[in-house]
Amino acid sequence: MEFISAAGEERYAALVRAAHESVIGLDFDGTLSPIVDDPSQAHIHPEAGEVLVDLADQVAAVAIITGRPARQALALGGLDEVGDAIAARGSQLHVFGQYGNERWSSAHRRVNSPRPPHGLGSFLLGLPSLLRRADAFDAFVEEKGLAVAVHTRRLADPKAAFDRLLAPITELARKNDLTVEPGRSVIEVRAPGTHKGDAVHTLADELGTRGFLFAGDDLGDLEAFTAVDELRRDGQATLLVCSSSDEHDALLSRADVTVEGPAGVLDLLRQLTLDAAATRL
Ligand SMILES: [Mg+2]
Repeated sequence: MEFISAAGEERYAALVRAAHESVIGLDFDGTLSPIVDDPSQAHIHPEAGEVLVDLADQVAAVAIITGRPARQALALGGLDEVGDAIAARGSQLHVFGQYGNERWSSAHRRVNSPRPPHGLGSFLLGLPSLLRRADAFDAFVEEKGLAVAVHTRRLADPKAAFDRLLAPITELARKNDLTVEPGRSVIEVRAPGTHKGDAVHTLADELGTRGFLFAGDDLGDLEAFTAVDELRRDGQATLLVCSSSDEHDALLSRADVTVEGPAGVLDLLRQLTLDAAATRL
């Protein structure tokens, strides 16, 4: 891991000291799971389960906070079994799906999900002709239940297609009272309101944390970064981790620490586990 500032190093040390009353919040894609062309083929890093189980012993809870539907993250991450192992050792795994709209935990084991937003059906009706007009008819449209994601990664020029689509999709979303979440070669349209920062505050309030680490890689993680900054201003020990790639560095200027993709995130979590255990001796 590379500390971006001197403050980053101090913040890591403070988080180690507060680890047992801290939550470790982790994005999924690009943070625990390497980015792949087909999002349905994504898989959590093979060592992630083991790392999260060991980490959970040293912290108040581990939370996956993702734009994916909670059930999908559970399946792609093998998180049911990880949750079993964590619960057996007396700690907690939480999964917040669809930017905090859905919730699952190793204690409750069912996904709580609201109804899809009203405008989503009408947005979907208008989408094919929009894609045709933007010369992006082959874009992969992922229906996520509470949201729709338009992926440009598999098009001939993903960046150009993304740029052509962003304005018209934003316009159609706005007409249907929906909000737009741009990401890495993906434009997601969903209900306004909830974002990852709400999940951070919810956990901090429910668990009465003294510390919070959040690791992410993309624009959709910015609200979580902001929420963690708010906790820091309230006196909590915090650490913001950017899982960087050569493709996208949206969070770099806001982070305390930067690491190289999911493997780097796991290295940091292993180190945190060791350091937190050492302070307990
Ligand atoms: Mg991500």
